[in-house]
Amino acid sequence: MMGPHSLILHILPAGLGQFFLLEYPHGLYLIDCSTPGKENILLARLNELGRSDLRLIWITHAHYDHYGSAARLRELTGARIGVHPADADFLARGESPLGSARGRSRIYPMAQPVARLLRPLRPTPPDFTLEDGQTLERFGLDATVLHTPGHTPGHTCLVLGDGTAFAADLIASSSQPHLQNLLATHWESLPGSLRHLQNAQPRTIYSGHSRRPISGAALQHIQP
Ligand SMILES: [Zn+2]
Repeated sequence: MMGPHSLILHILPAGLGQFFLLEYPHGLYLIDCSTPGKENILLARLNELGRSDLRLIWITHAHYDHYGSAARLRELTGARIGVHPADADFLARGESPLGSARGRSRIYPMAQPVARLLRPLRPTPPDFTLEDGQTLERFGLDATVLHTPGHTPGHTCLVLGDGTAFAADLIASSSQPHLQNLLATHWESLPGSLRHLQNAQPRTIYSGHSRRPISGAALQHIQP
């Protein structure tokens, strides 16, 4: 018998990143949803699963490649959209605050306006917001929000009761796992945000742009 913790995790590749569908017997939950125009990736998966009960889209932060398809998916599925309050206004205005860019990411502040001309980012007023430490229990999801600002003011990680964590753009593991060092609105907040995730002691951590998850032990070894 499948209990409430029998999670099937679907990693949905999309462009330069990926987003996550959490499948439980009692409901489906989405973490992020890629750039505008990517709703068919999710719809195809729902069709394969023969399910239409998407309850929630949690947006980890207000970036073009994390909430781009959220407004359309809400129309198509009726799912509610949640985000941290510090990023809620960016979503509502259809903004994607990049802050300052370092290293190879210096292309993004130039590339993003071009991408947005091709595929506009829709204003996406969230249905609800959650602060650090609050849970998604009222949606039937055993997950706690960690406020991990720096990349954006309202960037969050999500930690499930089974120890699975979604770190979005806080960490990267393209080579060795490391604190992301490409884009931030507040660089000085990143070390504290890393410690906040480390203190939650997750077992397996998925990030927004690295295909493979990292272990809890590898997370603890990341230096700020
Ligand atoms: Zn981002």
